[in-house]
Amino acid sequence: MGVYELLAEHASGVPINAPAQIIGMNTATTPASQRVGIGEIAVARAVLLGDGESPGILEYAAKIIHAGTFWGNPKSMMCHERYCAAFPTCKFRK
Ligand code: SF4
Repeated sequence: MGVYELLAEHASGVPINAPAQIIGMNTATTPASQRVGIGEIAVARAVLLGDGESPGILEYAAKIIHAGTFWGNPKSMMCHERYCAAFPTCKFRK
């Protein structure tokens, strides 16, 4: 939601200060399992950018990359020889 918020603000030039609204739908086959939920996320961008008191995940990611302490995530759906150049030699998959 934070990424969408930042992209929408950049593209439109309109400051986005209201909470984000998120809608989830369970599209199960039986009516008893079909549900819709609506929620709000306030200041979604703070998770990415930080809140002035603690850093956001982009700053953590930058520190990891600059320090060279990247670790693998073999549970990622992108962990596949088709998507990752490190796949043949990656020690995190073993
Ligand atoms: S092969 Fe290694 S580096 Fe590539 S996605 Fe999987 S865990 Fe990450």
